[in-house]
Amino acid sequence: MCGVADLDVVYVVQGSVKYPKQRSWHPERIHICQDCHGRGETPVDQWYVNHVRWTRVVGRGQLMPPTPCEYCGLRFIRNADPLLKRMTCSASCLTSLSDSRNAARGNKGSDQPCQTCGTQITTGRADSRYCSPKCRQKAYRQRSSIGSRNGR
Ligand SMILES: [Zn+2]
Ligand SMILES: [Zn+2]
Ligand SMILES: [Zn+2]
Repeated sequence: MCGVADLDVVYVVQGSVKYPKQRSWHPERIHICQDCHGRGETPVDQWYVNHVRWTRVVGRGQLMPPTPCEYCGLRFIRNADPLLKRMTCSASCLTSLSDSRNAARGNKGSDQPCQTCGTQITTGRADSRYCSPKCRQKAYRQRSSIGSRNGR
């Protein structure tokens, strides 16, 4: 919210972002700098200036020391959370991390064509029938709209 791109330590906070042409605030985890964190949550009259506001540091427990993101290496500060297993700075890093871990574990997919789109399945479990969650969804929706018709 304040040019965090160049910071080497960020606070991960629960915030809201208002996108242009949208009326409502969109809840989002955002990164803020130490200065912004020190200033406390965004005062109401500032919300509409930056179209970004933050309310609290993410997590339930104590404030953690700066921890490098397991995926991108960015050092971030958040509250500890007993349920937390992987330390990543953002949801997208967590997704990328699990993707790369799946790949590293030798999950090369079934090497079969996806049952929805026909693409060779090269990621995920060896028994996967779809190339992506999207295709699985699509197949599921088709199946339920066809009803009880059994393929073969
Ligand atoms: Zn800042
Ligand atoms: Zn990261
Ligand atoms: Zn597919």
